[in-house]
Amino acid sequence: MMKEYLLHLVNNIRISDILDIGVITLLIYVILTWMKKTASRFVFFGIIILSIIYTAARFFHMYLTEYVLRGFFAVFLIALLIIFQEDLRRFFERLAIWRPRSRERASVASPTEPLVTAIMRLARKRRGALIIIKGRDHLDRHLEGGVALDGEVSTALIESLFDTNSPGHDGAVVIDNGRAKLFSCHLPLSRNSVKVAGLGLRHTAALGLSELADALCIVVSEERGTVSVAMNGAIRTLVNTEDIEGEIDAFYRLQSPERAEKGRRLRVTANPWEKGIALGLAAVLWLAFGFQTESIRRDFTIPVSYRNLPVNWIIESQDPREATVSLMGPKQAFDLFDRNTLRVIVDMSDIREGNQEIPLTSGSVEHPSNLTVVDIQPAILTLTAHELVPRDVSVRVQTTGTLREDLVLEGIEVSPEKVKMLATRQSDDDLRIVTEPVALDAITETTRLSPGVVQQAGLFFVDRRPPPITVIVKVARKAPPVKNTPEEAPAAAGENME
Ligand code: ATP
Ligand code: MG
Repeated sequence: MMKEYLLHLVNNIRISDILDIGVITLLIYVILTWMKKTASRFVFFGIIILSIIYTAARFFHMYLTEYVLRGFFAVFLIALLIIFQEDLRRFFERLAIWRPRSRERASVASPTEPLVTAIMRLARKRRGALIIIKGRDHLDRHLEGGVALDGEVSTALIESLFDTNSPGHDGAVVIDNGRAKLFSCHLPLSRNSVKVAGLGLRHTAALGLSELADALCIVVSEERGTVSVAMNGAIRTLVNTEDIEGEIDAFYRLQSPERAEKGRRLRVTANPWEKGIALGLAAVLWLAFGFQTESIRRDFTIPVSYRNLPVNWIIESQDPREATVSLMGPKQAFDLFDRNTLRVIVDMSDIREGNQEIPLTSGSVEHPSNLTVVDIQPAILTLTAHELVPRDVSVRVQTTGTLREDLVLEGIEVSPEKVKMLATRQSDDDLRIVTEPVALDAITETTRLSPGVVQQAGLFFVDRRPPPITVIVKVARKAPPVKNTPEEAPAAAGENME
C-alpha cells in the first residue's frame, strides 16, 4: 500500500505540483523570516496553534471544536487584516517597487562623510537632531508636515537645519539619494511601550518610523549629546565616530545595486533553517491537502456485463460475476461520483464457441473521465459461450389426475408436434419440451386446450415467445355397466391380474 502510494506519487507528480510546493515554501519562508523581526510574532504563534487545533479537530472528527473554529474563521480573517494592516501595506508597496529597483537606482549617492561630520558636531554642541536616510520603502505615507528642500547634503546644510535659532530645526530631515528632500518633518511615534520606556519624543519618533519602513533613523540627543540609530524597529546608542560611520556605510552598501547583487547570492545560503522548515512544511501541507485531495483511491465491486454479444449467443458460465475496480482521482470527483455510472463491460464481438478467457482491462471500465482506473481484480474473465441454432423440438403433453370413470381416453393430439427452438450445437439429438399440465379430472368431453409450455434449460424460444400449442383430449363415454350382474366383476378382476 505504502509502496503503491509512493509509486503513484512519483508517477503523478506534475510541474504544477512542484510550483505549488515552491509557492507555499516561499510564502512560509517569508512569514518565518518576517516573524523573526516583527513584534506580531505572538499573533502568528496564536494563529499557528489555532490552525493545528483545527486540523487535529478535523482529523479526529471533533465536531464541536471544528464547528466553532470554522464559525470564527471569517472573524479571524478580519482580525488579521486589522492587526497586520501596516505590514500588509508595506508588503504590497514593496511588491510594487521590487522590480525597477536595480535598474532605476543604478547607483545611490552616499554622502557618508559630510553626514558623519555634521552629526559629530551636532552631538558635541548638544544640539538635538533627527536625520532619516530613506531606504527602499516609500516614506510619504508616514510623514507629516515637512518643508520641501531638495538640497545636496553637506555638513553645513545639516548643521544649519538643526540650528536652534532657525524655525525649521524642530522635526526630522529626510535624505534620499544624497539629497536633503525635506526638513522639519513630523514622524509617527512608536507605540511599542516596552521599547519606548525611558525615551523622549525624538527617540520615540525615530523608532516609530523604523518600525514602519526600512529607513535609517539617526538621532542626536539634545540632553545627553549621544547619537542613536533606529532601524527595523530597534534603537541603539552608538559610542564613537567609527560606529556612526560604519552604520551609515553599511546602510548605504545595503542599498547599492552591487550590494544587492551580492546580497542575492548571499541569500541563497542565508537562513538555512528557515528554508529547510519552509520546504518541509510545504511538502507536508502538500501531501496532506494538495496531493491527497488531488488523488485518492477507492475500490468498487460491480457486476460484469456484456456488450456486442451477437444475437443467438449465450454465455453459459462466467467467472467471476463481479469485478473489483480501483479508481483514483480527486476527492471532489469521488464526492460527486455516482457509483451507478461505473460499469465493467466486456466486448463480446469476438466471441468463440466454448471456453475462453477474456482479459479485463481499464478499457473495459466505463467511468467518469476525471477518475482513472488503476486496477481491476481479477484481471481475467473466464466464460463458456455457445451459439444457438434452430432445432426441431418435439412437444410432449403432460397430464395430471385421472379421467372420470365413465370416460375412456381415445387419444391426445398435439399440434404442432414439433416446434422450432434455439439450442446449442452440443445439445441432445432428441430434444423435447413439455406442456403445462393438462388436468384430466376436469375433462367431461372431448376438449381443445391451449396450454403453455414449460421453460427448459438450454432451450430458447425463437423471438422469445412461446409457440402456440393446441392440445385436443379425445374422450368417449363408456357403455353403461350392466346392472345386477355380479359375475362380471370377478372376470374384470381376473383381467387386471393378467
Ligand atoms: P533629547 O534626548 O534630544 O531630549 P528626546 O527623545 O528626549 O530627545 P524630547 O526631549 O521630547 O525628545 O525632544 C522633543 C523634540 O523632538 C521636539 O522639539 C522635536 O524637535 C522632536 N520631536 C518630537 N516629536 C517628534 C515627531 N513626532 N517627529 C519628529 N520630531 C519630533
Ligand atoms: Mg528630552
